[in-house]
Amino acid sequence: MDIIEVKGIGPKTVSILNKVGIYTVDDLVNYYPYRYDHYTVDKLDNIGNKTLVKAKVLSNPILNYIKKNFNKLSFNAEIDNKIIKVVIFNRHFLKNNLTIGKEIFISGKYEEKNNSLVAANILFKLPTNMIVPIYHLKSGITNNNINKFIIDGLKEYQNKEILPEEYIIKHDLITNKKALKIIHDPENIDDLKQAKAKLSYQELFNFTFKTNYLKKQTKELIGEIKNIDEDKVNKFINDLSFKLTEDQIKAIDEIKKDMSTKTKMNRLIIGDVGSGKTIICVIASYINILAGYQTAFMAPTEVLAIQHYNNIKKLLSKYNIRVELLTGSMTKKEKEEVNRRLANKEIDIIIGTHALISKSTTFNNLGLVITDEQHRFGVNQRKLLNEKGNNPDALYLSATPIPRTYALALYGDLDVSLIKTKPSGRKTITTKQYSLKEMPTVLELIKKELDHNHQVFAISASIEDNDDEILNVKIIKKSLEKHFPDKNIEIMHGKLKSDKKEEIMKDFKDGKIDILVSTTVIEVGVDIPNATAMVIFNAEMFGLATLHQLRGRVGRNDLDCSCFLISESDSKRLKVLEESNDGFYISEQDFKMRNEGDIFGTKQSGTVTFKIADIIRDSKILLAAKKDSEEYINSGNYLNNKYYKDIANDIIAGLD
Ligand code: ADP
Ligand code: MG
Repeated sequence: MDIIEVKGIGPKTVSILNKVGIYTVDDLVNYYPYRYDHYTVDKLDNIGNKTLVKAKVLSNPILNYIKKNFNKLSFNAEIDNKIIKVVIFNRHFLKNNLTIGKEIFISGKYEEKNNSLVAANILFKLPTNMIVPIYHLKSGITNNNINKFIIDGLKEYQNKEILPEEYIIKHDLITNKKALKIIHDPENIDDLKQAKAKLSYQELFNFTFKTNYLKKQTKELIGEIKNIDEDKVNKFINDLSFKLTEDQIKAIDEIKKDMSTKTKMNRLIIGDVGSGKTIICVIASYINILAGYQTAFMAPTEVLAIQHYNNIKKLLSKYNIRVELLTGSMTKKEKEEVNRRLANKEIDIIIGTHALISKSTTFNNLGLVITDEQHRFGVNQRKLLNEKGNNPDALYLSATPIPRTYALALYGDLDVSLIKTKPSGRKTITTKQYSLKEMPTVLELIKKELDHNHQVFAISASIEDNDDEILNVKIIKKSLEKHFPDKNIEIMHGKLKSDKKEEIMKDFKDGKIDILVSTTVIEVGVDIPNATAMVIFNAEMFGLATLHQLRGRVGRNDLDCSCFLISESDSKRLKVLEESNDGFYISEQDFKMRNEGDIFGTKQSGTVTFKIADIIRDSKILLAAKKDSEEYINSGNYLNNKYYKDIANDIIAGLD
């Protein structure tokens, strides 16, 4: 059913909804909120932005205009048997409604010492629902609107169950229609937990069904058996300026085994930034090239490709290995020349972006494909890769540490090597939490860095204007500009075109930008040696792994580096980052501290992203779904279910 048929949706709204990918009622009801505001009523001492207190108006409000567009309303109120002075800014329109004796609900900040309360909001009655879904929005549509459309859309929505019935029964899951109703209109936390459990399980079951099935199929892909020139490989390793760590050696052994057997290698290497994954890839490439094959190394962006190219060229050129670069910004002629030489086997290792899997690039005998940042490449692209050679071996890299059990569930189609031991002498980035009140201290410390001509990252959780809880990129940029008027400050976020993002990243790398205000889109792995500080606003909004990865952007130098976590809450979780610099440990702690109960927490980014499931919060569901989908495949029951049989057939078609 088309969304135009939903009550209240006209052509104008349709075009806005289309922009976020909503075309049908099905899309509409599956447009999930990204978080919830949870209101509670409590005592004055516990008042907060979402914690209301009950109050009675005791005096007529006085309105003061402080400046143009800035006014203040003040009145006395009785709260918890005390007389409190209440002020609220820019709500002059409330004046006539605040009559003496009226009962109201106030959120905000209480200052005990002068017995005053700065109200964030005043409500004349409690919301019917104390749990309010918050959506990502496009301008032209309000949070209330979209919620109303979805709830109306749900009335037209026919319940559809995808999951095999046996697993619905096994886990006692509620229907999809009921779950969706609750997701968009929750009455209480228990309901919301049940609804999330259903939709998360469904999402994770479908996901792990695919990866488990894919693994089954790729096990049958026959590639080439490669001879390993142990002497030359050992000499290369001995000639390195450092000793490999235990985990690096183990990973290389696993890779050797994979490459010397006839089944195609499909291995993921997981390790912190700086743990030495690149050198493992270089050694794998060397093995591959010595065996007579070509290597392709794909990076997610041009900046990263160039960085890898310079690095790898340095390491391999003295061994007579021909290293080349292929990127989108090269001229047509240059690209043609590289492609000609690749096809002619005049290049041993080619480094580039997605361009490497385009039709115009052919290899002479591609034996190994390395993909940096595994999660950015879809399953469908694997077919393209396999066809560039005779099922070439594949290595994937991820800089998002995650405990092994969960890695195996999440990357079910890949074998996994973890690089936990770090090269010695790695520096730590001094990390500390500050409240917004302490911003002057933070600004002072940033100023010191800027005075030394160092660069600074400022990270924001939002690019949206309509979210009063979160400092968005524009607000942050404005306020930093006020403090540092002579500095060049730029904004970067995910809604910019990718060329634009690359351009900004390049300008930052080249030192043309002093402070980069960005969302989490900043590249994992880009070296900005001159960046020495990072400020992360609303740090509570990010997963620990994401925070850890973000701060890894600074500290790629010999300088002292700092990370400032700005947050009013969540200090127990954030303390883990103050105390440790080990991605695997941090990830483990995150898994320990969060569970299904944390439905108001925010989603992790950086690993595989899901629409509703959060692999950390829903880690138990992930493990159950993985086990169930495996069982479902092995039992053969999926052959009697059209939905899953079709997925299986699509995977087979995608591989051969
Ligand atoms: P990653 O790819 O995991 O981010 P890199 O491979 O780029 O990490 O390694 C970061 C730096 O550490 C590089 O300069 C690399 O040469 C160096 N390095 C790698 N392994 C070791 C080791 N075992 N001991 C010392 N330095 C190492
Ligand atoms: Mg093999």
